[in-house]
Amino acid sequence: MTARILVVDDIPANVKLLEVRLLAEYFEVLTATNGLDAIETCENGKVDVVLLDVMMPHMDGFEVCRRLKSDPATSHIPVVMITALDQVSDRIRGLEAGADDFLTKPVNDLQLMTRVRSLVRLKMLTDELRLRASTTRNIGIEELLSRRQPSQEMMAKVLLVDERASSHERIRQMLRQTAEIDLATDPHAGFFQAAEAAYECIIVSTSFADFDPLRLCSQLRSLDRTRFVPIILLAENGEEDRIIRGLDLGVNDFLVRPIDQQELTARLRTQVKRKRYNDHLRASVTQTIEMAVTDGLTGLHNRRYLDSHLQTLFDRAVARRRSLSVMITDLDRFKNVNDTYGHDGGDDVLREFARRLRKNVRGIDLACRYGGEEFVVVMPDTDGPVAEKVAERIRAEIAQTPFPIGKDGKTLEVTISIGVSSLRRGSDSVEDLMKRADVALYEAKIGGRNRVVAKAA
Ligand code: GH3
Ligand code: MG
Ligand code: MG
Repeated sequence: MTARILVVDDIPANVKLLEVRLLAEYFEVLTATNGLDAIETCENGKVDVVLLDVMMPHMDGFEVCRRLKSDPATSHIPVVMITALDQVSDRIRGLEAGADDFLTKPVNDLQLMTRVRSLVRLKMLTDELRLRASTTRNIGIEELLSRRQPSQEMMAKVLLVDERASSHERIRQMLRQTAEIDLATDPHAGFFQAAEAAYECIIVSTSFADFDPLRLCSQLRSLDRTRFVPIILLAENGEEDRIIRGLDLGVNDFLVRPIDQQELTARLRTQVKRKRYNDHLRASVTQTIEMAVTDGLTGLHNRRYLDSHLQTLFDRAVARRRSLSVMITDLDRFKNVNDTYGHDGGDDVLREFARRLRKNVRGIDLACRYGGEEFVVVMPDTDGPVAEKVAERIRAEIAQTPFPIGKDGKTLEVTISIGVSSLRRGSDSVEDLMKRADVALYEAKIGGRNRVVAKAA
């Protein structure tokens, strides 16, 4: 895993020290010796993680962090604050400034590498989601995210898996203002509990008398429901090997006993904050995909969806030797509706038409707005004569009941013309099927409108 790390420290010797260690692990390293340069580098370049010294002249690390986190263009870049060991208040200030993690001087090698790796891994996931969200929608991803930022104030929902009463009571006490904690003293029960509820973090103690805690971690990583739930390991002193194996398995962070309340709180908050951010991104991507295949005016599927799905329905019908029919409907003299009632009046008619269309087709039929005032319905398992009957029923339903238009109770008579085609045995294609329906529609129009024309298969 290669990534670009920005090291920020006003003392060149400190920069060099971290740079050498990171280069030895094959990270790419950028450096800055003051806050403004650091911010500029983040804005311009592809920085994956920032290691930020707190004590700097002019602009200190807290201010740099605050600025990075308040700019939507840089707020997703993880920031690790490097503080002096005895400065507990620094950690709290760092947390308030939005820092994602802390390291204390002198920086321990294992901690440096594991924190950086874990943040890089999270950053890659976030980048991937940001990319998907922004390519599937034309508006900027920053704008999308800033509109509905997930709340960070809510108590975190946490599952604590720990069999030692003295330990879990203490942890619960430490986190009483940060988290709502469910406890599992048995690791097997903990696994099932994790799969059933929507936890935002799972804290796993390594100190089971008779169970390998990493087994639980790997099970949690392989289950869909818990794959993206962060795991924090509470390890004993001297368990470096186990920690490293855990991080390889996808454990997100760890603390070594005796556990410091500030540190536990900060690490938990960081994990939960990231999870909420990524969940939010994931939901935006899903919503974006739905929007991409839905017609905004009528709520029906749009042409893009039809184009990609019709071929599938067609291939399936051919493979199973089943029938398949298509109808194209077009509103008659729709331009007159717009000319008389305005574009909004026209939109009312389109919406009402879509509503009636949806009501008159089966659940397995695919109804789409093909464009303008043309709609397409694909009917699996439906032969020509049946499709013609369905089309005739829809035509009659539209013509019989006038459409409400505007808000003052006025109504308008609307008619439609429909062309129907059905799958031909032997050689046929989606293009030919659509073409035949289109020709049938054209014949319905020139034949006088308000009618159905079917092309016999
Ligand atoms: P025909 O019976 O031959 O189909 O006549 P027509 O007037 O319906 O035919 P034409 O295709 O020439 O006109 C369709 C009109 O539909 C033109 C366009 O302004 C209008 N239209 C297309 N999309 C929309 C829309 O989203 N809303 C509204 N209100 N009108 C639309
Ligand atoms: Mg028309
Ligand atoms: Mg038309």
